[in-house]
Amino acid sequence: MSADPATTGLPGQLPRIRSALDELVSFRQSEPIRSPEGHYFPLAANESPHEPLPAVVRAIHEAALGVNRYPDNACADLISEISARLAVPEDDIAVGCGSVGVAQMLLEAVAEPGAEVLYAWRSFEAYPILTRLAGATPVEVALKDGTHDLDAMAEAITDRTRLVFVCNPNNPTGTVLHRPELEAFLDRVPADCLVVVDEAYREYVRDDGVPDGLTLRPGRPNVVVLRTFSKAYGLAGLRVGFAVGHPAVADALRKACPPFSVNGVAQAAAIAALREQDAMTARVESTVKERERVHHTLAGQGWHTTPSSANFLWLDLGDGTGDFAGHCASAGVALRPFAGEGVRVSIGSPAENDAFLAAAASFRRTRG
Ligand code: PMP
Repeated sequence: MSADPATTGLPGQLPRIRSALDELVSFRQSEPIRSPEGHYFPLAANESPHEPLPAVVRAIHEAALGVNRYPDNACADLISEISARLAVPEDDIAVGCGSVGVAQMLLEAVAEPGAEVLYAWRSFEAYPILTRLAGATPVEVALKDGTHDLDAMAEAITDRTRLVFVCNPNNPTGTVLHRPELEAFLDRVPADCLVVVDEAYREYVRDDGVPDGLTLRPGRPNVVVLRTFSKAYGLAGLRVGFAVGHPAVADALRKACPPFSVNGVAQAAAIAALREQDAMTARVESTVKERERVHHTLAGQGWHTTPSSANFLWLDLGDGTGDFAGHCASAGVALRPFAGEGVRVSIGSPAENDAFLAAAASFRRTRG
């Protein structure tokens, strides 16, 4: 039998892949793990621990009956609902397949090859992936004390910088930027460079000094705010996110959006979720309470955790990261380790959080 060239990899026999992809690894998702008793506590992806609300499930069922048809490519009803909810004009809104999808559209819109894309590091792992995919050059500015170093970021802007990501609260540290520092930074960014304020975790913020990104927009047409239905609204599995920006930017985003990116079930669910504002707020409030409980319990166990404004906590564990993550995994607790740096643990249901706290306590007892 002759060898299959697709698997033998003979030189010149395989399709040519863009060299930009050589530097990429696929986005990592943690594997489901089980404790010896068969328990699995998924605290790796900052998801909502709550099942969809009944009204959302009803909307999903109803929309499922129409999936033989293409969805509304303009997402008109969803945009109208977002517009009413946030009191922003419909023309300022663009919807995409998760806020990751919208971030990719933003890069498609502004970051041609050779452009620089600036962001703090460590921050959301999709930024370097999407930047390289766009053929642009990532410029990473180290966090200072776990927070964006906005002075260093402003100094890193060149005439090639086309887009700056500001993640507020930051993933994975949970730290926030306050209005004066953020406004001072925005005043230093050239008007033709887009600043994307990624507010995936906005609903979990309880610090009054943190501005709603939408209030940074007046007089600043280069500011775009990124929001998602994946966290507070509990629709991570359906993939809907949106941007609010200047109409010219929103228009560019619509052009950069692959056709039919947001499916009809997702659109219907997002509309229904927006109409369940009180229930969403109550669920977020319970997560915030749990976040504070987990934070204080960890402190009582002797851990140092950064105060968080999001639905996760960051533990700075340095070289101990792998050991700690392995120990938690053996108890069925999946969290997100960053080798040599620390772990990010999502706030789940009280029972999931208790499982994590028990694993953290037993690690302390057995390994100090
Ligand atoms: N931005 C940040 C900072 C995130 O942490 C995440 C999810 N992990 C996203 C955006 C993406 O969310 P989605 O694509 O599900 O909307």
